Amino acid sequence: MHPLCLSVLVLACLLPVAFSAGSSVEWCYHLPSCNDSTWPVIAAHFCNGSRQSPINIKASLKLKQMTPFLQKFTFTGFNDEAAMFKIKNTGKTVKVEFKAGTLKVSGGGLSTAYDSLQFHLHWGNLSSPGSEHTVDGKRYPMELHIVNAKSIYNGNIAKILQDSEGLAALGFFIEVESGTTDQPASWRNLTAHLGSITEKGQYADITGISMDDLISGVDTTSYYRYLGSLTTPNCNEAVVWTVFKNSIKVSKNLIDLFSTTVRVGNSSSPFMTNVYRSVQFLNGR
Ligand SMILES: [Zn+2]
Repeated sequence: MHPLCLSVLVLACLLPVAFSAGSSVEWCYHLPSCNDSTWPVIAAHFCNGSRQSPINIKASLKLKQMTPFLQKFTFTGFNDEAAMFKIKNTGKTVKVEFKAGTLKVSGGGLSTAYDSLQFHLHWGNLSSPGSEHTVDGKRYPMELHIVNAKSIYNGNIAKILQDSEGLAALGFFIEVESGTTDQPASWRNLTAHLGSITEKGQYADITGISMDDLISGVDTTSYYRYLGSLTTPNCNEAVVWTVFKNSIKVSKNLIDLFSTTVRVGNSSSPFMTNVYRSVQFLNGR
């Protein structure tokens, strides 16, 4: 195997651990002893930092700042129906890993090219929404994050996390498409896997869905941009955030499957609900 391929593969394997589970800290969303109010203490580096995510986006302010800089994204491989590898229950979220080297992101005002590693989701419960970012105080039902790493680092995690823009996160809000059930087809296909990954650590093969299918209908030329962090411990401040203004539309019955199907641990553990971090101080951003 070419050394580059190997390093990309290693990156894809290691990042889910390093970037979504935290390296050492036992954190959670659902218990007072380890929920997000404790992260600045139990994961002080870097959850107590000054450019943390998510944030409440002040729409008028941010759009005014962005308008002169709006540039089109180039999404490579987003139409590839064979690019998704596994769908996993991590105990904190539902995550879909991409096959190494298949998806890339550039343009969109980003300084360089990024390799897409995985996407995962944040949600609330049956009666309250659970996006991470809010816009003028509005919280959306769900939020999808595509995690991308700067290509020039070839999977060197230390270098990626030392770079203030080593990661590029793409955030998509998900809203209820009222008056429908089981729509769109791509989300029906995605959520059909949830019943196979009800317990932490379980995973399933996933094919026949492209990233384009899942974000279909979103105008990707209109977005908010700011510098922030990972939204889970260790909250590394190495993320250039893009949050798209338009949302993905999904039927409520499919959205509700997330908070009623997958669990934080084994079959007797609670359902995964309210898996999002509270908004953080802007500190001048
Ligand atoms: Zn996320």
